Formats: sequence, C-alpha cells, structure tokens
Amino acid sequence: MSSPFRKSTLLVALGGNAMIKKGQAGTIDEQFENLRTPIRQIARLSQDYRIIITHGNGPQVGNLLLQQECCDAAPDLPLEILVAQTQGQIGYMIESTLDSQLMEMGIEDKQLFVSLLSYVVVDPNDPAFSDPSKPVGPVFTEAESVGLSYPVRKTPRGFRRVVASPRPITIVEKREIQKLIEMNFIVICCGGGGIPVIREGRTFAGVDAVIDKDLASAKLAEEVGVDLFVIATDEAGAALHYGTPEQRFLGKISVREAEQFLSRGQFPAGSMGPKVEAAIRFVSAGGHRAVITAVDRIEAAVTGQAGTILET
Ligand code: ADP
Ligand code: MG
Repeated sequence: MSSPFRKSTLLVALGGNAMIKKGQAGTIDEQFENLRTPIRQIARLSQDYRIIITHGNGPQVGNLLLQQECCDAAPDLPLEILVAQTQGQIGYMIESTLDSQLMEMGIEDKQLFVSLLSYVVVDPNDPAFSDPSKPVGPVFTEAESVGLSYPVRKTPRGFRRVVASPRPITIVEKREIQKLIEMNFIVICCGGGGIPVIREGRTFAGVDAVIDKDLASAKLAEEVGVDLFVIATDEAGAALHYGTPEQRFLGKISVREAEQFLSRGQFPAGSMGPKVEAAIRFVSAGGHRAVITAVDRIEAAVTGQAGTILET
C-alpha cells in the first residue's frame, strides 16, 4: 500500500477513556490536559505521515445520558443524537488542541485539518441490539450499581452502564475522507465509532446504539487504505491474565496468536476485545502494522517500539 511517491497514511484511534484517566471526575480542564499528550505527538507525526484521527466517546456519551436523565424540563434525546453531540464536542477539543500544538511547531498555516460528522451503517438485525455490551459513562461500585434503571455490567474498571454495540458495516463518508487525506488534511472522523444508522431504501435512519470505535476504525482503514494503525488507550498494550498477579503485557504477536488469546477469553468484549479484533482485521486485510499502546507512546508505536504489535 505504501509508495515512494506519497506519505504513508497513519490512523490513530484515541480512547475516550484515555481522555478521562482512572480516578478523574472528567472535568473539561482534565480532558483538555489529557488530550495534549497524544495530540502533541500527532502534530509531530503529521510532518511525515498523512493522518486520520478517530476517537472514542464512552465516558462522554454516558455522561450526556446521565445529564439528560437528571432533567425533566427538556425531552430526552436518543443515543444516536448524543453520539453526534460527542463528535462535535470531542472534535472541537481535538481541533483546538491540535491547532495550539501546530502553532507551537510554527506549522499551523501549512498543516490543515477538519473534523467530519460521520455515520456508520449497522445491521438492524445485529444480535447486539438484544445483548448490550458496551460500557459507557462513569464507574459505579457494586452497591451503587444495584437498582439502577438501565443495564449494568462488571468491567475491569468497576460497574458500568452498558448499551447495544452493533458491528460497523460501512462508513458512509469514506469517499470524502479519502479525498481529504489525499489533499493532506488531517481528518478527525468516526468519533465515538460513528453515528449509528440503518439504511432505509436510499435514506438513513439513526438507531439507539454506540458502535465500538476500534471496530469502526478498522473498517475505515480497510475502506480508505491505511498503512499504519495505532490504537491509543490507557494501558501499555494488551495483557494476558489482565488484572491478576500473572498479568503480562504482550509485545509483538502474530495474528494467529492474537486470535488464540482472543478465543480463550483473554480480552473482554467492550474494551480490549474489540482492539485486538480491530488489529487482527487490519493486518489480515493487508495493513502494514497495528499497535495497541498507551497514549504517551504513540510515536514509539508507529515505529514498532512500543505496545502490542501485529505486523504483516
Ligand atoms: P478506550 O476508551 O481506550 O477504548 P476501553 O475501556 O474500551 O478504553 O479499553 C481499555 C481498557 O481495557 C483498559 O482500561 C483495561 O481496563 C481494559 N482491559 C481489559 N482486558 C485487558 C487486557 N487483557 N489487557 C489490557 N487491558 C485490558
Ligand atoms: Mg473502547
């Protein structure tokens, strides 16, 4: 996929959870501060790579749900509208942080960027609609989680609300995204996994769900042709026996090993599972290197020096 005539394309998927660190309340100041670490690296990388940034929205979309449930004065909005809101909110935060970082490097007028509202098509018959698995919003203790009016699951972080997370079928704006990267724009897209829609004839209708941003990113990578895929999260990579005394972070692994660990239940649904699956899909579809890494190691991950690495 790479050619000597153009820069390689790098897709960085930023974790929504990495914008609000464990133990933080998630104030806007904390989120802006947390964003500086990945965005500073991406600004530097933009000199050598074409860049696509996707981002999660788990904590943010869950907070919007909670906020609207605390208020009876205005009508409730469905999840797909809240996902669209988080694309605006986080897209704006990434853009303004990127602008400051490019300015510090003195290249803000050379490096253009844009955030794009993106829809992602899902299957209305996806079994995920009857089995919510994606954690969103804040972490509760077990005692706090009892009696809540919505489904809750135990996750490695604690108890969290879960929503339906159908699989991405196609990115509606793939042609626009491809054109923009060919024109050397940094493109921020597929925020929160994309606004989930189903096809109704020639039109689209939104559905109540949140698509996993790592699976949406892998689909986007396949559809627009990406060379390098970095999934930046709040852990150093994918670990075996996560959260136990035998925990061991994985370095370079083969697709086959990744598939085996996944099928043995080492990586749970809704968090590390989709990251490993996205990396497997990317490399199997001809991508050069996929890395799951911490937000402060993005540059090292690009050159294969950090994180859990899958390569062709
Ligand atoms: P993001 O917002 O970056 O997508 P997620 O919560 O979806 O974050 O996924 C990252 C989380 O996955 C980590 O915070 C960690 O708690 C959890 N996790 C579960 N299993 C593993 C594992 N085997 N190795 C590493 N992290 C894991
Ligand atoms: Mg996630």
